[in-house]
Amino acid sequence: PIEPWYIGGPVVKGFGRGSKVLGIPTANISTEGYSTLLQEHPSGVYFGWAGLSMKGVYKMVMSIGWNPYFDNAEKTIEPWLLHEFDEDFYGEELRLAIVGYIRPEANFSSLEDLIKRIHEDRKMAEKALELPLYSNYRNDEYLKISL
Ligand code: ADP
Ligand code: MG
Repeated sequence: PIEPWYIGGPVVKGFGRGSKVLGIPTANISTEGYSTLLQEHPSGVYFGWAGLSMKGVYKMVMSIGWNPYFDNAEKTIEPWLLHEFDEDFYGEELRLAIVGYIRPEANFSSLEDLIKRIHEDRKMAEKALELPLYSNYRNDEYLKISL
C-alpha cells in the first residue's frame, strides 16, 4: 500500500510560457498554504489522479519545482491532465491525489529534449496508473467534488 498526498485549489494562471503551444498544458494550482507539504516532498515529476470540478477524474503527470529550463524563481505545481478538453478551465476547482514519483527535476540542453522527456514521463504515468496499486485511487473521496 502507498501513502498518497493531496493538493487542491482553483486553477490559476501560470507564466503562460506556451506550454499549451508545445502540446503540454499544465493547470497550475496556487502553492499558497502548501509550503510545508512541498518542503516535505522533493521537486520533480510525480503522477496521480486529478478531479476537475464536476467534470470527472483524469490521469495526470505533474511537475513540482522551479522548472530549471525556464529558471523560475518560484516553485510551481503544474499538473498536465491526460485528457483532451474542449475548453480551458481556469478558476475551476482541481483536486490532486499524488501517488507516485517518477524523477527529480532536471535541466535540459534544449527545449526539444525537455519535451521528449515529458512525453516519456507521460507514458510512464499512464502505464503505472493502470496498476491496481495506483488505479484504486481514482476513486479517492478527495477527488469527488460536489459544488
Ligand atoms: P498557464 O501558464 O496559464 O498555466 P498553460 O499553457 O500551462 O498556461 O495552459 C494551462 C491551461 O490550459 C490550464 O489552466 C487549463 O485551463 C487549460 N488546459 C486545457 N487542457 C488541459 C490539460 N489537458 N491539462 C491541463 N490544463 C489544460
Ligand atoms: Mg501551466
